[in-house]
Amino acid sequence: MEKFTGKTIFGQVAIGKIFFYSKEKQQVTRRKIDDAEAEIKTYEAAKEKAIEELGSLYEKALKEVGEVNAQIFEVHQMMLEDEDYNDSVHNLITTQGVNADYAVAVTGDNFSKMFAEMEDEYFKARSADVKDISERVIRILNGGMDMGSLKESVIVVANDLAPSETVQLDKEKLLGFVTELGSSNSHTAILARTMNIPALIGVKISEEWNGKMGIIDGANGMFIVDPDEETLEKYKELLKEEEKARALLEQLKGKDSVTTSGKHIKLYANIGNVSDLASVISGGAQGIGLFRSEFLYLESDDFPSEEVQFAKYKQVAETMGEKKVIIRTLDIGADKQVDYFNLPKEDNPAMGYRAIRICLKQTDIFKTQLRALFRASAFGNIAIMYPMIISVDEVLKIKEIAEQVKKELDAEGIQYGDVEQGIMIETPAAAMISDLLAPHVDFFSVGTNDLTQYTLAIDRQNAKLDDIYDAHHEAILRMIGMVIENAHKNGIWAGICGELGADTTITKRLVDMGIDELSVSPSMLLRVKKAIREA
Ligand code: PEP
Ligand code: MG
Repeated sequence: MEKFTGKTIFGQVAIGKIFFYSKEKQQVTRRKIDDAEAEIKTYEAAKEKAIEELGSLYEKALKEVGEVNAQIFEVHQMMLEDEDYNDSVHNLITTQGVNADYAVAVTGDNFSKMFAEMEDEYFKARSADVKDISERVIRILNGGMDMGSLKESVIVVANDLAPSETVQLDKEKLLGFVTELGSSNSHTAILARTMNIPALIGVKISEEWNGKMGIIDGANGMFIVDPDEETLEKYKELLKEEEKARALLEQLKGKDSVTTSGKHIKLYANIGNVSDLASVISGGAQGIGLFRSEFLYLESDDFPSEEVQFAKYKQVAETMGEKKVIIRTLDIGADKQVDYFNLPKEDNPAMGYRAIRICLKQTDIFKTQLRALFRASAFGNIAIMYPMIISVDEVLKIKEIAEQVKKELDAEGIQYGDVEQGIMIETPAAAMISDLLAPHVDFFSVGTNDLTQYTLAIDRQNAKLDDIYDAHHEAILRMIGMVIENAHKNGIWAGICGELGADTTITKRLVDMGIDELSVSPSMLLRVKKAIREA
């Protein structure tokens, strides 16, 4: 038995077999091989396995996200059968005598570049697909596992996990995860909390753990590998106790989130995916305060069409009925990278071309999303929220585009609802001019994750600075106070959808400042309700 310390992302117990996910294995090096024929056979077997995997992904996607979204996996299957692609791999193996994964990597690169240089937008977009299929084959050749198809319930141990990898994880089979890198404010960490999954970061990991038994002790920030009988029993007991505590919290379901002085605080949930809705409903949220719509884009291999988006937003709106659903427009960039956007590499991506900045420059992408959102608003109580705002000018431009979209829908005779439009206050600039912004919007939602990052000048992704990344910093709390005051002076409401909203050690202070709404991970709903009722 060995014990390792780490930092807790979501503090609960998980017990299960360890699955070691290695990305390093996918790094390809050129090797000389002796038997080209055998190497081609190895390639063909890996390719068949990839086609099989894509078939399962197609079936899964068909059930979860419908035909239109699932089709991409069929396209990938066809690309893997492409004669030119296969000829290139075979030729490299035979003429240069190189290893299969190297031949696939070179072929993938060449084809991807060729597609990227094409005029036609459709073919341009295939550049990312060729990369994707090549990476799939390389992973299989190197013995890596498919993140989307875990065979049994496991604790995933990895050097690091990107948000795009985390969303692909099969939630049914994921008991918890442990990573060496990552910070507690990263989107991967937020996803763990949304998915209600025990997780630790900053643990010195080892590939030798693969297949062994592991225990995540979230409360003490500890990972135990190969526990002895006595330890295992102790944690099984703890797991039972956690279940009991959860049952106690369950008693708060159906009760109001009202403070001791009688003020009702709206308690909403943050989601990243339609599949999170079950936990929103079971947690008794009064609405959705933040739907991170960019995860729709992260899960997809190409720009999700208006129809695909409309179907998703409509599903959320209909599921929530009269309850408010605040959908945040695309917040891509920084740690949320999507290949098909072809965003240039930047020195400071968190301060770069991202979120509303992309939307205001590439208005076709923005308009497609707005059309889908307004159309879906006819089926429920949808509100739209815009991220990363820094100026009144941006808000005016956004509203102009939203008006154009509405006019287009009017001309087409398409119905839409009365949609509230609000903004995230997540830059110091927005907080400082909240008095000027308030007259133009219907609500403010403070994004404390980014507001902390930008105010304290601390990269939220930097694990080394995790200990000084402090959302309780007086500068942040003063800004929140100022934002609430300016909202109320202008007759609008102010809430928090950043992680600070779920921090029950500060609930009382937020309530005293006059906060109107808190939007938190579904797993935190009942705990925050308890704190509100005690505030
Ligand atoms: C925030 O910045 O606080 C926020 C809610 O948005 P995200 O975490 O997605 O950047
Ligand atoms: Mg943010």
